[in-house]
Amino acid sequence: MKKSFLITGGSGFIGSHAIRSLVDMGYDVYNFDKLTYASNEESLKHISSSSYNFIKGDIANNKDLEKVINLSKPDYILNFAAESHVDRSIESPDAFINTNIIGTYTLLNETLHYYESLSQSKKEKFKLIHISTDEVYGSLDFSEKSSSELSPYKPNSPYSASKASSDLLVRSWFKTYNLPTIITHSTNNYGPWQFPEKLIPLTVANALKGSPIEVYGDGKNIRDWIFVGDNVSAIIELTLNGIVGQEYNIASNNEVSNIEIVRNICKILDNVIPLDNSSYSDLIVFVSDRPGHDKRYSLDTNKILTETNWVSKTSLDKGLKVSIDWMIKNKDWLYKKTKGHKRIGLKKR
Ligand code: NAD
Repeated sequence: MKKSFLITGGSGFIGSHAIRSLVDMGYDVYNFDKLTYASNEESLKHISSSSYNFIKGDIANNKDLEKVINLSKPDYILNFAAESHVDRSIESPDAFINTNIIGTYTLLNETLHYYESLSQSKKEKFKLIHISTDEVYGSLDFSEKSSSELSPYKPNSPYSASKASSDLLVRSWFKTYNLPTIITHSTNNYGPWQFPEKLIPLTVANALKGSPIEVYGDGKNIRDWIFVGDNVSAIIELTLNGIVGQEYNIASNNEVSNIEIVRNICKILDNVIPLDNSSYSDLIVFVSDRPGHDKRYSLDTNKILTETNWVSKTSLDKGLKVSIDWMIKNKDWLYKKTKGHKRIGLKKR
């Protein structure tokens, strides 16, 4: 019988990529999503397979969850549902506490009820994969060692604190109730269909519109970038072959400062759609920094590389070109989603 995957938050950026991969691999997929502002039904509308099902609902609502779990009878649950944008968590943390913490708690409870009802052979295969972030480890100095799965949690924003809280709940459901869980920590994802409030698609959108390209602070903060397809292939590998009770870091080891990535984007655009007498980089403006802005994230990926068959396949150079090419072809979508968007607390310096 075909395995069944229940994907929460599957209409978002990473979840929708996971759904497309799983449907292509021949699995039954149930997408359970509240359809917040960050969701993207368009990214899934071309899937015609009868293996794909959408159910609207909220992970913080136990009745919604009970219904979808009974309907999908999942072999695996992948929890992508979250509020995911740091700036929004600074402006209004409520939704982050509700979805990321209460939602994860509700999902754990309902999953445990379901797990306890399974036959022994189904129990042995079942897993709940909780998708977390590198941000739970907090900020590193430029010369500090990369964070490993054993590094302490030191979240600094309401977003990362809510994700850290949810990770600890997941850990405790494994330790206390033996619910088979795995937690993944990935670095910053990028790729087609990313909501253009995040750095890469926002930069492309502003460049194409001729609007200012805003960079926080001095632009020297470092992020470690992974192409979304590589994160998804790691998550699928861990779902099928990872060890329960474990956490795994996922990264492609592409540490780049924000200003460097913005300049790279401008250079690619200068080649693809040249301006008459200027460069897209002329649009860059430095704006006052995000409060509590983490300096650097960097992940040690030794565990996933030595314990599984996963490897990252997409170089930053190639991934950026593919993503920018997609954004140019889909600029109407990009513009529609950036309409009225404002980054917080930003004054020109
Ligand atoms: P996203 O914001 O693009 O999508 C989140 C999805 O969750 C949306 O479709 C939204 O409608 C849905 N959702 C929100 N609240 C919900 C609720 N209460 N019930 C059901 N659905 C709800 O997020 P993303 O970038 O795809 O991130 C997915 C996961 O990966 C998140 O847990 C995030 O913390 C984590 N993560 C993201 C990145 C990144 O760079 N994007 C990096 C590391 C980890």
